[in-house]
Amino acid sequence: MDVIRDRMIAGQSSVLGVYNFLEENEKLPAEQLAARRRHLMQAQLEYARKESPYFANILRHHRTADLLDRPELWEELPLMDKSVLLGDFDMIRTRSDITFPQVDSYLSDRSSVDEPFNDSDLLVVSTAGTSGKPGYFVYDRQEQAHIRAQYFRFMRAILDTVRPQGPLRSAAIIVTGAHMIGYKMQRQLPAEFFRMIPVLREGRAVTVEETAAELEEFAPHILTCFGSTLRMLTEYKEAHPEFAWRPLALINTGATLEQDVRRRATAAFEGVRVFDLYGSTDTGYIGWTCEEGRMHLNTDCMRIEILGPDDRPVADGEFGSIVISTYWHRTLPIIRYRLGDLMSVSTESCPCGRSLPVVKELLGRENTLLYRRSGTGLAPVPQGVFMEMFETISGVRRFRLVQESPDRVTVSVVPLADSPPGLAERVAERVAPVFGEGASVEVRLVDALVPSASGKLLPVERLFDPTAGRATAR
Ligand SMILES: [Zn+2]
Repeated sequence: MDVIRDRMIAGQSSVLGVYNFLEENEKLPAEQLAARRRHLMQAQLEYARKESPYFANILRHHRTADLLDRPELWEELPLMDKSVLLGDFDMIRTRSDITFPQVDSYLSDRSSVDEPFNDSDLLVVSTAGTSGKPGYFVYDRQEQAHIRAQYFRFMRAILDTVRPQGPLRSAAIIVTGAHMIGYKMQRQLPAEFFRMIPVLREGRAVTVEETAAELEEFAPHILTCFGSTLRMLTEYKEAHPEFAWRPLALINTGATLEQDVRRRATAAFEGVRVFDLYGSTDTGYIGWTCEEGRMHLNTDCMRIEILGPDDRPVADGEFGSIVISTYWHRTLPIIRYRLGDLMSVSTESCPCGRSLPVVKELLGRENTLLYRRSGTGLAPVPQGVFMEMFETISGVRRFRLVQESPDRVTVSVVPLADSPPGLAERVAERVAPVFGEGASVEVRLVDALVPSASGKLLPVERLFDPTAGRATAR
């Protein structure tokens, strides 16, 4: 009976149904949770094999039970990523009504952002991507219920910690008006309880002053934003003690927050608690911090592998590349999907008592904050601005923006095959105003992006120390 329920959960369309399942998992003894995860993976593999031509081909050599029981067979399964999903979209998908040309044409049209895809209730979203690659993703109602339930699991830990008085108000500083998941899943929330604060308004970066004014006016108890934005707001509060907004909780999304930002935010905003929410458009929510401040992994929603440079699993507690196989993606199954982030998983359990494993260290998408000249000093520009901007410049396949100094920016762009002429000029016209007059922006059209010395391919990177920059400006 329980086995059947475990295996049915992926098709569950009730947010509460999924939420209750997740909550139950947190209390299960390790052995029982492992059995449940095995059932979920088994159901997912069988579904993918039956419904997706791509996975039918990949899985054809092995029985499902063998893949689950013999790690050496599992490790033979090819890895996939965003570009595989894009390139083999029509082979991977399990529905006939989401062909690549239809999805591509919908996502390429910015004017359709607030329109449903083909009059359906499908959530069709794209991402400029944290690695600079575009990604297309489709979620049906059941899958949306999973994403929401994963979010509520995290919210329960927050509300157990901060206990706001009166109706809860929350806000998120995100990219708006694009085919992005954060905007599309939140735009219909009631305005009295939730506000979206854009990072870009009419093509211009929203200033920290404008953001602060909006926070003061709406007074959210909880704010969700990029780590880079959190740094910006913290610096603003340090410089302007009269900034009257008093948040109870700050939620950092993206990667692990830099330690100094956490410490300074906690000092600047008296009584605030800082949480991390780690997720992606590709995979749903992966990790979230509990009341004890440790990040738990949603291993009851996905199988998480940590692989070394040879694509073999690392030893327990070691650092490696995150590879995910979700239990609930049915429209576009993702199995052994390389996310591009690096993580190590702790071998210790958390004092909160949850059965879910805890992250030791996470090096995700870099929370890079860039700077532009402002008066005699420098003003910060969060990387979200560029994620948004490149989402809306047609003809860009991948990009990488490097700020070498406050006045010098280089953008490498891999154009799409059918990119209209004048792409370099159009990119320069959009990027230059963000850095202000006098900044030199060089745009190079390239065939491929080259990783930096660190081996990481960050979409946005800063190569100078802004503190030193401030000193010279004085
Ligand atoms: Zn915990």
